[in-house]
Amino acid sequence: MECRVLSIQSHVVRGYVGNKSATFPLQVLGFEVDSINSVQFSNHTGYAHWKGQVLTAEELNVLYEGIKLNKVNHYDYILTGYSRDTSFLEMVVDIIQELKKANPSLVYVCDPVMGDHGAMVRITFKTLKSNVCCCVQVMDLLHQMGPETVVLTSTDLPSKHGDQFLVALGSQKTVKPDGTNATQKICMDIPKVDAVFVGTGDLFAAMLLAWTHHHPRDLKAACERTVSVMHHVIKRTINYANEMAGPGKRPSPAQLELRMVQSKADIENPAIVVEARVL
Ligand code: ADP
Ligand code: PLP
Repeated sequence: MECRVLSIQSHVVRGYVGNKSATFPLQVLGFEVDSINSVQFSNHTGYAHWKGQVLTAEELNVLYEGIKLNKVNHYDYILTGYSRDTSFLEMVVDIIQELKKANPSLVYVCDPVMGDHGAMVRITFKTLKSNVCCCVQVMDLLHQMGPETVVLTSTDLPSKHGDQFLVALGSQKTVKPDGTNATQKICMDIPKVDAVFVGTGDLFAAMLLAWTHHHPRDLKAACERTVSVMHHVIKRTINYANEMAGPGKRPSPAQLELRMVQSKADIENPAIVVEARVL
């Protein structure tokens, strides 16, 4: 069965963030991806210079209207990431509501990055992120707001393997055959690489979409595949970046662009290198 994703994210001419980070890996895994570029920038904003254009809420609506007039607004998933302003997000909400009418089983995958407001949420959340009970409470609170699946991609929780690992948590609510609710909570220790990558959050969200599609009631399996893809892509990226930078030099943002095309085989069939623990 064909599976179609509407992905509303950034486009960059050079490099891999937003739609550039999500489209290729989703296509490699067999998904049809319709992409709306919320911005078109030369490169991501971590470089010394960046230039480009931002799509307004009205321009977003025009693109959606075209899709709707042709009656091709049937999607299985909608995926959103980085967004700069609230009016744009309000238009995204209107579109999601319309898409839900066209397909009541539409799944919304939300990577909640939101410019400066996102930064505020992250600061408030930072103190909570170092306490496992707080993280679990945050995931339960998010469930109460609607999402069946919640993943905290990086926390400040100490890993039992030491400080070379970062801890990610996940929680999934399912309905058992007898009608009662069950929640599976999982924990993963991810080997840390000493560099700052950009576009990894976007790749994570895309891979979580793909692997929860294939394992809809098994968050452990979906997260193991997702995090293993991340690991392979990041390893390939850091090895290349270090080689390009030369001995003793820190790689530049351009050298640290994700090695996406080179990772095609790992995306398609990731060797599982990170195991999730059920909490
Ligand atoms: P965001 O960009 O949304 O803040 P995160 O920093 O949480 O995303 O990273 C998303 C995922 O990317 C992590 O769960 C991890 O799998 C991977 N990742 C990102 N940075 C690193 C790193 N330095 N070392 C190892 N894995 C990383
Ligand atoms: N989109 C743009 C244009 C960006 O500049 C960035 C980060 O700098 C992102 C998206 C988000 O990237 P990440 O997946 O690392 O959160």
